Amino acid sequence: MIYLDHAATTPVDEAVIEAMLPYLRERFGNPNSIYRLGRQARQALDEARERVAAFFGAEPREILFTSGGTESDNLALRGVAYALRERGRHIITSQIEHHAVLHTCEALEKEGFEVTYLPVDAYGLVDPEAVREAIRKDTILISIMHANNEVGTIQPIAAIGRIAKEHGIPFHTDAVQAVGQIPIQVNELHVDLLSVSAHKLYAPKGIGCLYVRRGVRLIPQITGGGQERNRRSGTENVAGAVALAKALELAQARWERDIPRIQRLRDRLIQGIQERIPQARLCGHPTQRLPNNAHFCFPDVEGEQLLLQLDLHDIAASSGSACTSGSLEPSHVLMAMGVPRDMARGALRLTLGRGNTEEEVETVLEVLPRIVEKLRAWNLGG
Ligand SMILES: *Cc1c(COP(=O)(O)O)cnc(C)c1O
Repeated sequence: MIYLDHAATTPVDEAVIEAMLPYLRERFGNPNSIYRLGRQARQALDEARERVAAFFGAEPREILFTSGGTESDNLALRGVAYALRERGRHIITSQIEHHAVLHTCEALEKEGFEVTYLPVDAYGLVDPEAVREAIRKDTILISIMHANNEVGTIQPIAAIGRIAKEHGIPFHTDAVQAVGQIPIQVNELHVDLLSVSAHKLYAPKGIGCLYVRRGVRLIPQITGGGQERNRRSGTENVAGAVALAKALELAQARWERDIPRIQRLRDRLIQGIQERIPQARLCGHPTQRLPNNAHFCFPDVEGEQLLLQLDLHDIAASSGSACTSGSLEPSHVLMAMGVPRDMARGALRLTLGRGNTEEEVETVLEVLPRIVEKLRAWNLGG
């Protein structure tokens, strides 16, 4: 199989599995127990936290383990909104966020918060000046994603962070797609909260973290035994935390090798598709994009048809976000970018990863043009 859907999830790295196995087997203790087995688990958790913090240039106490990207986004938005509701009710975000942010904002609107959904340009970029202009006296939170999960556009997070900081407003970024692909240092980006998910990073599903800058107040969304400094209760996922730390360590160690290679494969994919498929439209920014993302729209083709045909050739791809596929509504991200509706229906997202090869890319470049041509002929009744 040719797997080109790394933005949906990634295979778990063997080294990650090896690192976590002891905490599923003999070192299974509860980190809250006082005997040795418990203390060993506590130590593993502490070390994982230190390593995750170091990766982002943060302090260990600023890292909170969660069940993944969705929970981190929920905790950031609801946690800050509820903590600051006496100060104001206004939140700023963008129209192209992941549903974990958008649907949470919509839920907060029903509770009396007001949300500004900033537009993006044709490349999917948020203008930092538009953020500045949207700020009101009662703005209590800004949340803009680092890199978009559909089209791969990378936002000017540091510039937005500076504006948020000037105004003393907490700034959250959903960095789920960016982590492991572009360098992320919380102080350089001026972010106060940052969401991470392990399964987009060659580690298992169901573990992630939220960076919360020291001093940022947060109302816990899961209450119970008071774990994670009282901010996220529940017995800690020790093996998961170890896995996340290991995955970040691997990403760092392999960075100089992996990223340029993946980017070359991506560029070959983009160039080949543009040469071989007439009217193929590259979506997202030509250069300010994730090194592994190639996203296209094809007129007169249905994204779902395309995916089924590719699947027949054992090629796994996506029409956009895994959460919206299956629905016939065109992607909210493409709509926000002003892509015409019928064009947006023919969306194809190819996201590369460590395991992909040049041969695989060449295979896709042979198969895809034939599929698009065939589907167009069908759809146009030719
Ligand atoms: C995958 C993803 C999420 C959700 O993360 P989970 O760990 O699957 O809950 C949130 N935001 C973005 C940008 C994502 O790509």
